[in-house]
Amino acid sequence: MKRKTPCNATVKRALVCVILLAMPVRSASAPHALRRTQGAPLPDNARVRAALDWFARNISWINGQQVRLTEIPAPPFQEGQRAAAIKELLAETGLPVQIDKIGNVIGELRGANEKEIVMVAAHLDTVFPAGTEVKVRHEGGRMIAPGISDNGTGVAALLAIARAALSAQLRPQRTILFVADVGEEGEGNLRGMRALVETYHAKLKAVLVLDGSGTDHVTTKALASRRLEALITGPGGHSWSDFGMPNPINALVRGSVRFINTKIPVTPRTTFNIGQIEGGTSVNSVPHEARLKVDVRSETEDELTRLESTLRECIAAGVRDEMDSARDRSKGGLEWKVELLGSRPGGELAPDSPLLAALRAADDYLGNQSRIERSSTDANIPLSMGIDAIAIGAGGNGGGAHSLQEWYEAAGRETGLKRALLTILGISGIAEEKSR
Ligand SMILES: [Zn+2]
Repeated sequence: MKRKTPCNATVKRALVCVILLAMPVRSASAPHALRRTQGAPLPDNARVRAALDWFARNISWINGQQVRLTEIPAPPFQEGQRAAAIKELLAETGLPVQIDKIGNVIGELRGANEKEIVMVAAHLDTVFPAGTEVKVRHEGGRMIAPGISDNGTGVAALLAIARAALSAQLRPQRTILFVADVGEEGEGNLRGMRALVETYHAKLKAVLVLDGSGTDHVTTKALASRRLEALITGPGGHSWSDFGMPNPINALVRGSVRFINTKIPVTPRTTFNIGQIEGGTSVNSVPHEARLKVDVRSETEDELTRLESTLRECIAAGVRDEMDSARDRSKGGLEWKVELLGSRPGGELAPDSPLLAALRAADDYLGNQSRIERSSTDANIPLSMGIDAIAIGAGGNGGGAHSLQEWYEAAGRETGLKRALLTILGISGIAEEKSR
């Protein structure tokens, strides 16, 4: 998850609460969205109530699984061990479970209507490289470890919701897929969710993404982003004897200065970040290579496309400037390219989407209030393809995401679990008892 506003500051949270109290967000269509079973509101159904009650009775089991799974390293592209553990836990509930070719764990709760699927997904991977200490420390009511909240909370919630549904013998109308997916973070480039949407596209009606903690937001807008790498190469040489030959680092710096002077619109909000720059082998060598990595984000794809071409133009111009000022071109010139390392497409959920209505109805039932957010999550992929999707936190409180001090407090996590369960059932529906 890439939240714009990590909820790690009490002050900030208090401020958000004040703002929310001043401007309560309510949906007019909410009261009907939980009426998906025999005309009665979902929480009136005895099996739904049994599933909701399951959470409070099993909080220590849920916390325990979160710790256990967080302590199984899951760096980008190395999610296999954690996936195997989740497969086993999902299978224990009695669900048929498989791991697909790319490494996603998929448990299937068959609905009365198997032609339609709703998916609840939590990403398996963390941003932390292999070798990071992931042992969970307990301090007061706090668990501290890299990945404990993002996405230990989501993965634990996924398991808890599946267990609650199975133990209450819930039978949905539409099939529910419980998915722990790979490749959400960093250069994983959402590959797990891309594969899932490709596989289930024809049947997929909605996706609920569980990412991180909290119950204070709902991501309905996908923040589009691209990651680009510029590479400039040249002949290289000696700092003294080859002085005057074109220098790739000089060219990169010239191009970078042009790029960072680019005018960026305030609306639509658009950002860029030169996050990495490298090149050269020693201080007394003319380098033969220089590269930089840039992350660009925007509320619109058009601005991303514009920024991507601006980067290309600036790098080309930087190379041109350097070549123009080079005194010695006898050993050759500079070459350059800009490559797309990753792309997260944007998209937005329609305000009248049944999925959002189901979430709002769950919020109303639980007395919870949440604000709409734009963020970059697994929901980007379905949203960009016109499939209804939202991302929410899975309850409790967390902070310090993507840092070694990441923390989670489980107090009150039932609200987040109930919210997720009611939302998914609101969109899957409950099969009529007689067809059981
Ligand atoms: Zn995340």
